[in-house]
Amino acid sequence: MTLSCQGIGINTSREVAIGEVYLLQQGIPEVTHREITKDLVASEIARFENALHATTNHLRSVREQIPANTALDISEFIDTHLLMLEDNAISQATISLIKDNLYGAEWALKVRRDELVRVFDEMDDPYLRTRKDDVDHVVGHVQFVLAGGQPEQQGDLSGRVVVARDLTPAETIMMKNQGVAAFVTEFGGPLSHTAILARSLGIPAVVGIHQATSLFRHGEQLVVDGAQGVVLADPTDRILAHYRQRIETKRLREEELRRHVDLPALTTDGERIFLHANIELPEDIGITLNNRADGVGLFRTEFLYMNRPTLPTEEEQLEAYLSAVRGLGGIPLTIRTLDLGVDKTTGNISESGCMPAINPALGLRAIRLCLKEPELFVPQLRAILRASAAGPVRLMIPMLSGIQELKQVIQIIDRTKDELSKKGVPFDTDIPIGGMIEVPAAALAADSFARNLDFLSIGTNDLIQYTLAVDRMDEEVNFLFDPLHPAVLRLIQHTIDAANRAGIPVSMCGEMAGEPRYTQLLIGMGLRELSMQPSALLETRELIRQSSLSELQQRTRTFFKELEEKGESQSFDTLFD
Ligand code: PEP
Ligand code: MG
Repeated sequence: MTLSCQGIGINTSREVAIGEVYLLQQGIPEVTHREITKDLVASEIARFENALHATTNHLRSVREQIPANTALDISEFIDTHLLMLEDNAISQATISLIKDNLYGAEWALKVRRDELVRVFDEMDDPYLRTRKDDVDHVVGHVQFVLAGGQPEQQGDLSGRVVVARDLTPAETIMMKNQGVAAFVTEFGGPLSHTAILARSLGIPAVVGIHQATSLFRHGEQLVVDGAQGVVLADPTDRILAHYRQRIETKRLREEELRRHVDLPALTTDGERIFLHANIELPEDIGITLNNRADGVGLFRTEFLYMNRPTLPTEEEQLEAYLSAVRGLGGIPLTIRTLDLGVDKTTGNISESGCMPAINPALGLRAIRLCLKEPELFVPQLRAILRASAAGPVRLMIPMLSGIQELKQVIQIIDRTKDELSKKGVPFDTDIPIGGMIEVPAAALAADSFARNLDFLSIGTNDLIQYTLAVDRMDEEVNFLFDPLHPAVLRLIQHTIDAANRAGIPVSMCGEMAGEPRYTQLLIGMGLRELSMQPSALLETRELIRQSSLSELQQRTRTFFKELEEKGESQSFDTLFD
C-alpha cells in the first residue's frame, strides 16, 4: 500500500468522507518592507486595484451562494466586508501610500492596515473596537490575491475537504451552508466547539494534524476517517474501495437502527431513560425529531450571535426560539443562556470588548460575561421568557461557580419577569430554571445549587477541562482529557446524588453523554436523562434497550469498588463492553 501522504490527528466524529482538498487561506500573509521606483507607480496601483476587484468579485459570488433560508445573517457579514473594500479609507489611502511614499502595494496596504487598527484600538466604544477584525479579514483577502492567490478558485466548497490551521465555530457553520464534505485542522481537540459543531452538523472531521496545511495540496483527493482520526492523501483504488465500503456499512447500520426509532429507551428490566438532543440552530430540529428525542437538553444559543456584524435583537432571538419551540411540537426545549468565551467567539461581534483576557477559559465567559453586560443578557432572557408562552421551555445557566452568582442571576430573571408581567406580555411564570454543573466547585457544592434550582445538567466538556486542568482546545494535552478519571467520576456522582436528595431532575449534556462507551456506566451511576448530538440518539437507544439496569448497577458498584481500592480501574472495558 503506497501513500503519498497521510496524517494522524484526533478523531472527532464517527463519519468518513472522500473529497478534494480546499486549502483555506487564513490570516494575513507575512509582508516585508518594499519600495518601488517612480516609473512603477502606475503599474503598482493597477496591481492593487486588480486585487481589490478580484476580492470584491469573489465576495459577491460567495454572497450569492448563501442559501436564502440560512438562519445566520452571513450576508450582512459579507456586505460589511464589501463596503470596506469600497471605502476610501482602505482603497484611496493605500493608493496614496504607493504614490507618495513609493511603497510596494503589499507594504502600502500593510501600513494602512496598521494605521486603521491603531485608530480602532483607541476607540472607547467596545463594539467599534472590534471592527478591526473586519479590517483584517478584508486586508487578508486582498493580500492573498496580491501574493498570487486566486480567490475564485476557492469559491466552491461543495463536496470539498477543507484543510485549515483552525476554524472558528462561526466559520464551520458558514462552510456547512456551502456544502463542505469534511474538515481537517492543525489545531483543536475533539471537545473544541468546532469539533462538537462538526459532529452535530454531521460533518466528518479530524483535528490536531500538525502541519496539515503544508502536508496536503489544494485539489488532491483525501480520505477523512473521522472515527480513527486518520487522513489519507491520494488514496489507491484499494483504499478508496475500503472506505466506500465503510460508508455503505454505516448507512446500512443506520437503516437497521431506524427500524427501532419509535421504541422508547427502556432497559430490559423496564427502566425508562430519557434521551434528549443538543442543538446549535433551529435547523437541527429536523434530525432531533427524526431520531425521536424526548426533548432538547441543550440549545447552545451562542450560534445565533455568530457571523453577523451586530448583536441579534430580542425579536430576532424570539423568532429563533419560537421556531424551535413550535418545531418541537410539545417536547421540552432547554435554552441555555449565552456562553460566549474564548472557545466560542462570534467571529465578529465583540464580547463587549472584554476579550482577550489573561486566561480566557478562567475569565469573563458565559454567565460571568452576561452578569457584567446586562444589555447582552436581559434581551436574551426576555426572548426566552416570551418564547415560553408558546410551549415547554426550560432556561439553563452555563458555567455557574458560586451561589451568590446564582442568586444574582435569579434576581435578574425575577426582575425581567416582573417587567414582562407589568406590560401584560405572556410567558410561563413557572419556567424551570436550571444550572450547568461545569466547574468542580459547583459539583462539590451541588447540594446548594440543587436547593436553588429546578434542575441540574452536567457539562462534562468543561467539568473535565477544569477538574484535570486540561485545555479542551489544546491538542497537545488532549491525551490527558479523561472522562473516567476518578476525580471526574466522583464529581459526577456527587452531583447526581445531590440532585436526587433535593428531588430535582439531573441530566448530562456534555459529549460524554453521547458516547456509547460511557452510556451504561452513566445509567449505572443513576442518570436517567442524557442529552447528546442528535446523530448519537439511535445508537444510544439501541444500547439501552439491550441493557439490564440491575446488571448495570452491579457492574458500576464493582467498577467503583476497584477505583476506591486501587485508585484506578483496569476493568472498565470488560465490565461495560
Ligand atoms: C459542556 O461544557 O459540557 C457543555 C455541554 O457546554 P459547552 O460544550 O457548550 O461548553
Ligand atoms: Mg460548557
